[in-house]
Amino acid sequence: MPKKNPSTAAQRARQRQAATGEKYTTALRAETRPAVQRPAVRHRPFSAGGAGWAPIIRRAARELDEVWPDHPTPAWEEKFGDLCWKGTPWSQGPEVWAVVNQATREASSTCQTCPSPGRKRVVWPWDSEYGWVMPWVKTCCDTCAYVPPQLRDDQAYLELVERYEERG
Ligand SMILES: [Zn+2]
Repeated sequence: MPKKNPSTAAQRARQRQAATGEKYTTALRAETRPAVQRPAVRHRPFSAGGAGWAPIIRRAARELDEVWPDHPTPAWEEKFGDLCWKGTPWSQGPEVWAVVNQATREASSTCQTCPSPGRKRVVWPWDSEYGWVMPWVKTCCDTCAYVPPQLRDDQAYLELVERYEERG
């Protein structure tokens, strides 16, 4: 039985790197196929940007102003589809936590990209240099979620789907 071809650029690059001994980045560039179609929505790993989460972040900022007038500007980021404040000041009191937790809770059911209701979905961020780099968990509506057809059987993708989509 023929061995299944690796389906992501990263997998192909690792295989190519093992075969040729060249640098990973060189192999990855060589294995990235420019012909794949780009999705309308570009998901960026760790980015909390997007029209869906923006109002949640703005409201959290206003509420923080009230409970903690000199608060530092929160470094919001996305992690496994959740909105979080990177480097949250743990020493703050419960009223600050209430604001942060409320924002995280709202974001967990709001598409990050548009203001539609959303849920955890596994998507593929697109990189103009590397192509479809890796599957990534985002909070997404059905419209903003996009999985390239050729990557629907990808093992890493399926594992994330099982963990984050099917146990929701
Ligand atoms: Zn959406």
